[in-house]
Amino acid sequence: TKIFHSLRSPAPLPPPSQPLSITDYTLSLLRSNPAFSPSTTDFLIDSATGNRLSYADFIRQVHSLSAALVTKFPSRAGNQVALILSPTSFHIPVIYFSLISLGVTVSPVNPISTKSELTDLVRLCNPAIAFATSSVASKLPTSAFPLGTIIIDSPQFLSMLQTPSPNFIHRQVKQSDTAGILYSSGTTGRIKGVELTHRNFIAITAASQHNKFVRDENAPQPEPHPVSLFPLPLFHVFGFFMLIRATSLGETLVLMEKFDFNNMLKAVEKYKVTYMPVSPPLVVAMAKSDLVPKYDLSSLILIGCGGAPLGKEVAKSFAARFPHVQIVQGYGMTETGGGVTGMNRPDECQHYGSAGRLSCNVEAKIVDPETGEALSPMRQGELWLRGPMIMKGYVGDKEATAATMDFEGWLKTGDLCFFDSDGFLFIVDRLKELIKYKAYQVPPAELERYLQSIPEVVDAAVIPYPDEEAGQIPMAYVVRKPGSKISEAQIMEIIAKQVSPYKKIRKVAFINAIPKTPAGKILRRELVKHASSGASSK
Ligand code: AMP
Repeated sequence: TKIFHSLRSPAPLPPPSQPLSITDYTLSLLRSNPAFSPSTTDFLIDSATGNRLSYADFIRQVHSLSAALVTKFPSRAGNQVALILSPTSFHIPVIYFSLISLGVTVSPVNPISTKSELTDLVRLCNPAIAFATSSVASKLPTSAFPLGTIIIDSPQFLSMLQTPSPNFIHRQVKQSDTAGILYSSGTTGRIKGVELTHRNFIAITAASQHNKFVRDENAPQPEPHPVSLFPLPLFHVFGFFMLIRATSLGETLVLMEKFDFNNMLKAVEKYKVTYMPVSPPLVVAMAKSDLVPKYDLSSLILIGCGGAPLGKEVAKSFAARFPHVQIVQGYGMTETGGGVTGMNRPDECQHYGSAGRLSCNVEAKIVDPETGEALSPMRQGELWLRGPMIMKGYVGDKEATAATMDFEGWLKTGDLCFFDSDGFLFIVDRLKELIKYKAYQVPPAELERYLQSIPEVVDAAVIPYPDEEAGQIPMAYVVRKPGSKISEAQIMEIIAKQVSPYKKIRKVAFINAIPKTPAGKILRRELVKHASSGASSK
């Protein structure tokens, strides 16, 4: 069989049977760094207020919160789930690391989710407790949580962070236990809960620590202390994994509660940010915006880009504007717990258009979607991945799990890809239904369900439509009831009231019938072709 192996040396992993939570693993990596001083190193900086939290205070808060929560979660209760609904704040890392150390599964969700989206998520992950800010808590279904809702910006929560904790509560957490449930629609259908274990995150963190980016092996001066700015949300796998990684490395993180491009540039200048993990629309903005020359961004040395395809031309114009900044591309999915490809040296970054090489401990196959045959370099097929970071499965959905992972542990990504002869991965297209609006997931099946519930709509299908700024926008093909005069704008408005803003339908075309297979499956490719031929505007 043709299996692609990582060219990088393997990262050592703890024995799988050793009880170890991500919190303990991350903190042990931190402690193993002899140069690291928790009391003098800032862990978090709030970009808006300039407030800081040192590593020592962060660890103290994690211990205090665990002491305050431990009686709620007796160890015999098994893997209970905590839903977290909050904009980015200092409290989020504390909540994650504390719950995880107690063996509680954290399930962070997008705070802009609508009530009906939240009802779906709650049904999926069945949380015992919710943590929410007062600004969004009212959207949660009432009495859904047996252990109640903790309001993060309340005096009660703040006092939990002061709870005396003479002894660190040490729980034996199995690596095979679920640490997080994050959300993805996978290759088809509606949103699903992706179960990621402690082992998954330990593996992905070990790999990213092991394969750190090396700018210059012979550099005489020490690197500046890494300061990362996170424009990413902490509920998405990219932010979640980058948070664990940065913590394990003792980096300083600048957090933004509300993303704003100008404020981001200001923060880079003010806090001398060295690294930013971003999605492609931000690279586009940095390559083009007139605001960029107004700031001193000379501290930046590295940008990590992932979550959606980055155009070759964009990468080149970014490189021309920021010659001192390396742009590292990586590929990953919620189901892989974080990035599984990347670039580790400046010469690798020259491979514009590629998503990098396989990270350590990951194997890959390129599979012909028709025949199931594994293909050699330069040939296109579906990317399959295997390794210790691959999810346990979709929570409560054996059927979807079985359709996505085979019995040998291969994850079918739904991405059409090829490897070149040097092991660089190129993502050509998406075979799966998923639409990515500014790297956010928009599952067509979810929008189709809303469209079909409009009385004047007989049938509908949603496809991705190319867009320079967002990458893709959701476009709907709609079959109206005979005689109906419902307009494109009216349809868009009805949907916009029910979904998070990034899921809005931004283009509508009417059609006589949705093309389908005899089995009733929507022929999305035909619609995509129809849309790109411009036929839809007639
Ligand atoms: P998510 O689970 O939201 O991270 O979405 C995962 C999907 O995003 C992948 O299956 C790809 O379709 C897409 N994706 C992620 N990274 C890249 C990349 N570097 N280039 C192209 N597509 C990407």
